[in-house]
Amino acid sequence: MRAEGDRYQVVALGVGSSVDALVRQAQEFRPQVVAIADAARRAEVAAALPFVQVVDDLADLVEPADVVVNGVVGFAGLPVTMRTLQLGRRLALANKESLIAGAPIVQPLRATPGAELVPVDSEHCAVHQCLRSSAFADREVARIVLTASGGPFRGRTSAQLADVGVEQALAHPTWKMGPKITIDSSTLMNKGLEVIEAHELFDVDYDRIEVVVHPQSVVHSMAEFTDGSTLAQLSLPDMRLPIGYALAYPARIGTPFGRIDWAQLGRLDFEAPDIATFRCLALAYAAGRQGGTAPAWLSAANEVAVDAFLQGGIRWHQIAEVNDEALQRYAPTPQSTVADIIDADAAARRCAAAIIGKVRSS
Ligand code: MG
Repeated sequence: MRAEGDRYQVVALGVGSSVDALVRQAQEFRPQVVAIADAARRAEVAAALPFVQVVDDLADLVEPADVVVNGVVGFAGLPVTMRTLQLGRRLALANKESLIAGAPIVQPLRATPGAELVPVDSEHCAVHQCLRSSAFADREVARIVLTASGGPFRGRTSAQLADVGVEQALAHPTWKMGPKITIDSSTLMNKGLEVIEAHELFDVDYDRIEVVVHPQSVVHSMAEFTDGSTLAQLSLPDMRLPIGYALAYPARIGTPFGRIDWAQLGRLDFEAPDIATFRCLALAYAAGRQGGTAPAWLSAANEVAVDAFLQGGIRWHQIAEVNDEALQRYAPTPQSTVADIIDADAAARRCAAAIIGKVRSS
């Protein structure tokens, strides 16, 4: 917004409990309405922003907007995703879980007149850009290749990872992100969820979605077409590019956030992911192939497991163990209503919590 302020106006802002950031940003960008989900801190916000309407539901921010950037963490982003599509607005989606878990109910909403989903996830933003090169992408895409930085633990063995702590898992080599997604990057669950996300976004089956580790995070993903041509999107790793892309599409913003210096870049490396050490990637493929509420189930179990790790309740390698056992305990559940999806999410959380209790006492 700072870079392209004459092109866009912030009409609404919302947070969970980050009052300071909300107040600072509202003072700078002057939205009409703000939302704070944490009820205990609402009075503080209202006092600091006397001329702004304060609401409690993030989904109530959608109405005045042309584009909604959904950057909520986890399943909690589902209502914003749904309301945006229901109102026929453009959804700039950074909250992958709402699409992954909510696919059975979110996908039909994409047909709402005016509704449009433009991914903010850097890999899917890259694929979105590559697919624009084909007027017949629905039948000419042979393969989607998602790149993964490999996270902070790339190249380490299971034995070397037995005792890693929260701070090490939070030290991502190339991207600066929130704690949940950074832990997901360290386990490769983030990439697994992105495989499901790519399947849902681009309607490409799982056999044609591959993951390759690319530690420089310059190639953000690729699309291979039926004639063997591969197109890739390259840029320096900065989330402002995908956000700007989703705002401006089909145009492009006028501000580059860094340019590649080809003479300095030197090399781009690619390697196969170590799926024996980083088991979450295969779990996500398995949940995606099962379909239905299985992705919702795995994603919810993973949220609980990551939270337990961040709180010091389980060890890093146990995140995958919890997810694995939770997925083994999954049995298909109804998926036609919002309540069905919320039930599946809640049941998966209870399941994961029970497994974590067992893991901790063993
Ligand atoms: Mg990503």
